[in-house]
Amino acid sequence: MKPAPFDYLRADDISAALSALHDAGEDARVLAGGQSLGAMLNMRLAKPSLLIDIMHIEALGAIREEKAALVIPACVTQEALLRRSDLHPLLAKALPWTGHVQTRARGTVCGSIAHADPSAELPLCLALLGGEVSIRSRRKRRTVQAADFFRGMMLTDLRPGEMIEAVRIPLARKNQRFAFTEIGRRHGDFAIVAVAAMREGDTLRLTVGGVNDTPAIREWATLDTADIPDALNDLAWSLDARDDLHATARYRRDLMRNLGRIVIEEVSS
Ligand SMILES: Cc1cc2nc3c(=O)[nH]c(=O)nc-3n(C[C@H](O)[C@H](O)[C@H](O)COP(=O)(O)OP(=O)(O)OC[C@H]3O[C@@H](n4cnc5c(N)ncnc54)[C@H](O)[C@@H]3O)c2cc1C
Repeated sequence: MKPAPFDYLRADDISAALSALHDAGEDARVLAGGQSLGAMLNMRLAKPSLLIDIMHIEALGAIREEKAALVIPACVTQEALLRRSDLHPLLAKALPWTGHVQTRARGTVCGSIAHADPSAELPLCLALLGGEVSIRSRRKRRTVQAADFFRGMMLTDLRPGEMIEAVRIPLARKNQRFAFTEIGRRHGDFAIVAVAAMREGDTLRLTVGGVNDTPAIREWATLDTADIPDALNDLAWSLDARDDLHATARYRRDLMRNLGRIVIEEVSS
């Protein structure tokens, strides 16, 4: 299929992008790497009348460190992040699972967050790390916690006229440990189930992707080794697992329990 007709605007600075977004409202879509939007246009799942290409905005191209966080602006690709020598340890583990080198070379970090696929790795990591989404419209700036940003399957807190300017990921602290794993049909496919864990002292936090419509987060102040199976079983049954083309709800719960145990053991060893 071919996309429905649309106008294309190449924005060379943020104000041009925000003005166009403001004027077109719900009829406009931001075009970042196009790795998800391209398919949605072709399948006519999205029929915007205007695409605003933000990838030539220089001011949104460079990662910076600010107040103990890594700030990743909207034009930073997943591959650019992955190649950083000071990459966050969780992202170093999770990003290689995100698509393929070709899709990462164009796909942006913020685009993945905006797209909010329930199986995507980056929303899961942002939620686990307590990251933030910096949102901007022509008139206003606001910041939303990752846990509040994801509202449903491919549904976020973004309002018409707004775009993600950057995401903020807290820098890893010395006493934190991280683990990530997932199961997909083939490497580079979206996960059937993905899990990420973080331990800081006795506190253990786990996020699960691919089961609920948004990343599921569970935190335990302490969790004895003997209690892990029950805790994971409890979490598995609290999730909204459903049957679909890729897996049954039962298989997803089972994956969650097994992958959960693997990442918990990794951060606890
Ligand atoms: C073969 C293939 C395999 C893939 N496998 C995976 C995978 O395993 N895991 C995974 O997570 N992803 C996967 N993807 C998706 C891919 O990584 C995309 O990069 C990502 O989902 C979207 O990023 P993008 O920059 O391409 O955004 P686009 O496709 O340009 O945009 C996606 C959506 O986000 C919106 N958007 C983008 N940027 C902004 C912004 N700054 N502000 C507001 N809205 C914005 C767009 O309007 C659109 O609605 C795969 C894609 C392909 C083609």
